[in-house]
Amino acid sequence: MVHWSGSHDVDTNREFLRTVNTRLLAARMRGWVRGNDARFFCECGSHSCTGRIPLSEREFERLLRFRNGRVVAPGHARPRERVLLVTERYVVVATWESAD
Ligand SMILES: [Zn+2]
Repeated sequence: MVHWSGSHDVDTNREFLRTVNTRLLAARMRGWVRGNDARFFCECGSHSCTGRIPLSEREFERLLRFRNGRVVAPGHARPRERVLLVTERYVVVATWESAD
């Protein structure tokens, strides 16, 4: 069970996790990290989350195209988040706030 601290912390964690995941993707694309079972970090942003999500590089690349989207483990969507996509391995969520 994940639990949520202040929303500012969650946003900061999410930014950090997205950066880590993007770098992980870049490292795999360049062949620095090998293996078929890429595991990206759950981007829910909870301090208590240790979720890792099995995704191919292609899948993660596609998920980057969701505007304001975050890839999270099943069950890790926050209350009041918009669910954009649900699969067995992950959920793509977005906050309702517009970035405009
Ligand atoms: Zn999580």
